[in-house]
Amino acid sequence: MNILFVSSEVTPFAKTGGLADVSGALPKALAKLGDNVKVVMPRYYRIDRNKLEKLPIALGVDMGSLGEVWCGVYKSTLPKSSVEIYFIEHEGYYGRSGLYDENGVAYEDNDIRFIFLSKASLKLSLALDFKPDIVHANDWHSAPMPILLKTVYENNDFFKNTKSVLTIHNLQHQGFFDKRAMDILGVGWEHFNQYALEALGGVNILKGGIAFCDALTTVSEKYAQEIQTDEYGFGLQEHIKIYSYKLFGILNGVDYEEWNPEHDKYITQNYSVDTLEDKIENKRDLQGIFDLVPSDEVALIGFVGRFAKQKGIELIASCIEGLLQLDVQMVMLGSGEKWAEGFFSDIAKRYPERFGCYVGYSEELAHKIEAGSDMFLMPSLFEPCGLNQIYSLRYGTLPIVRATGGLDDTIVNYDKKSDKSNGFKFYEASAHALYHTVKWAVEVYKDEKDEFVKMQKRAMKEHFSWIDSAKKYQKVYLWTMK
Ligand code: ADP
Repeated sequence: MNILFVSSEVTPFAKTGGLADVSGALPKALAKLGDNVKVVMPRYYRIDRNKLEKLPIALGVDMGSLGEVWCGVYKSTLPKSSVEIYFIEHEGYYGRSGLYDENGVAYEDNDIRFIFLSKASLKLSLALDFKPDIVHANDWHSAPMPILLKTVYENNDFFKNTKSVLTIHNLQHQGFFDKRAMDILGVGWEHFNQYALEALGGVNILKGGIAFCDALTTVSEKYAQEIQTDEYGFGLQEHIKIYSYKLFGILNGVDYEEWNPEHDKYITQNYSVDTLEDKIENKRDLQGIFDLVPSDEVALIGFVGRFAKQKGIELIASCIEGLLQLDVQMVMLGSGEKWAEGFFSDIAKRYPERFGCYVGYSEELAHKIEAGSDMFLMPSLFEPCGLNQIYSLRYGTLPIVRATGGLDDTIVNYDKKSDKSNGFKFYEASAHALYHTVKWAVEVYKDEKDEFVKMQKRAMKEHFSWIDSAKKYQKVYLWTMK
C-alpha cells in the first residue's frame, strides 16, 4: 500500500512527546512489512536544512482569505531506513523556536500553521504523483486531511481511492479555534454543525477529523474505551461514541534499537537479562549525577516526563514529603508547569541526599534514569499509551503506575502467585493510593528480593514490537477499503 503519513513531530527531527516516537518508528515498521510509506512534517527552525536535500518543488496552497500561500520542500530518510521523510518549508509558519508554543503560550496562528501542513501534504502527494491508498493523520495537527479528502477533494480523481486513518495520541489537545479556521479550511459552512466541526460556537478540528476519517485509532485498547466516557472524553465522548464502529485501539511498540540496555550508547554499563547484576553500575552513576548519597541498597525511583497535570505530578507533590521518609531516593527529569519546576527543584534543595531534579529536556539523562533506577513512577491521571513504562520494562526498572489507558494494558500488578506480574499498580487517582503503592513496592524491593528480581527478568524479556503494531494498522487500513 502507498501510505502518506503526516505528523507534527517525528523522532529524531523534532520531539516533544510520544507522538514523535510513534511517527519515527511506525512508518519504518510498515515499510519492513512491504508498504510504501512517505512521512511529512514541518521543517521547524530547529531542523538543520543543510542536512536535508532541497527538492525542486514549490507548492501553492489555497488558504482561503489568505490567498495562495507557497512553500518549499526538503527531503531526507528516517534513520537506519530508506523511508522518505518530507519537510514542508515555510519560514513564516515554522521558522520559530517552538513547535506549538513559546514560553508556555500557544502560537495564536496554530490553526493556520497546521491546516497549512495538511493541505501542503496533500499537494505534495500530487506533486510527487504518489497516489496514497491511505492517508494516515495524527492528532489534531493533521486531522484536517480526512476532512479535506471528504470535502474539497471529494470528486478529485487522484484521491478517489484514498482512505484516511486518524490516530488520537492524546485527546486532551483538540485544535479548538474561532470561526476563521472555517475560512482557512475552505470546506463549506454546511460542515459547521455539531456532528462535524462545530463545538461551543467555534471550530474543533479533531472533532471534524473524527467525523470524516474512514477509521479512527488510538494508542491502546483501554484508552479506546476510556475516551468514550465522561471521565476521559474531554467533551468529545458522545461524539466518539457515534463513531465507535470505526474505532480501534492499537498499542504502541518500542524502538528497541533506541531503548535497549544491551547496546544503549548513553548509559555507563550495558547489561542484559543474563547480566542484570551489572545494572547496579548505572544506579551508582545516577546517584553520582544527582549528588545523592551512594547506596546500593536504597530503592531508587525515577520519573521522566512532562510536568503536566496529566502525568500525576500533583499527586507526587502532595505526598513527596511522606515518600522521602521511606528508604528511597528519587530522581525526576522533566519540564512544563512552572509551579512544578519550582516545587521539585526546591525539594531537591531540601533533601539533597535523597532527591534530585533536572528541569529541562535531555535524551541522555532519560536513558540514564531508565537504566539506573530500580523502579519507575508513572502516576498519570490519564495515559493514552505511555512509552516510558514500556522502556522501563526492558531496563528491568519496574514500573509503579496508575491503572489507566496504556499503563493498565501493559502493567500487571505484583502478585507472588502470578507468573505475569511486571510492576505495581494503583487505581484511585489520589496521593494516598500513590504513597501506599510506592511503600508496598519498596517493601517488596527490600524484603522479597528474589521475587523482585524474578519480576525484573520477566519484564526484560517482554517484547512490544512495532512490527506487531504495524500489522494491526495494516488490518485497519484494509478494513477501510472494504
Ligand atoms: P507524552 O507523549 O504524553 O509526553 P509518552 O510517555 O507517550 O508521553 O512519551 C514521552 C516521551 O518523551 C518519552 O520518550 C520520554 O522519554 C520523553 N520525554 C518526556 N520528557 C522528557 C524530558 N524532559 N527529557 C527527555 N525525554 C523526555
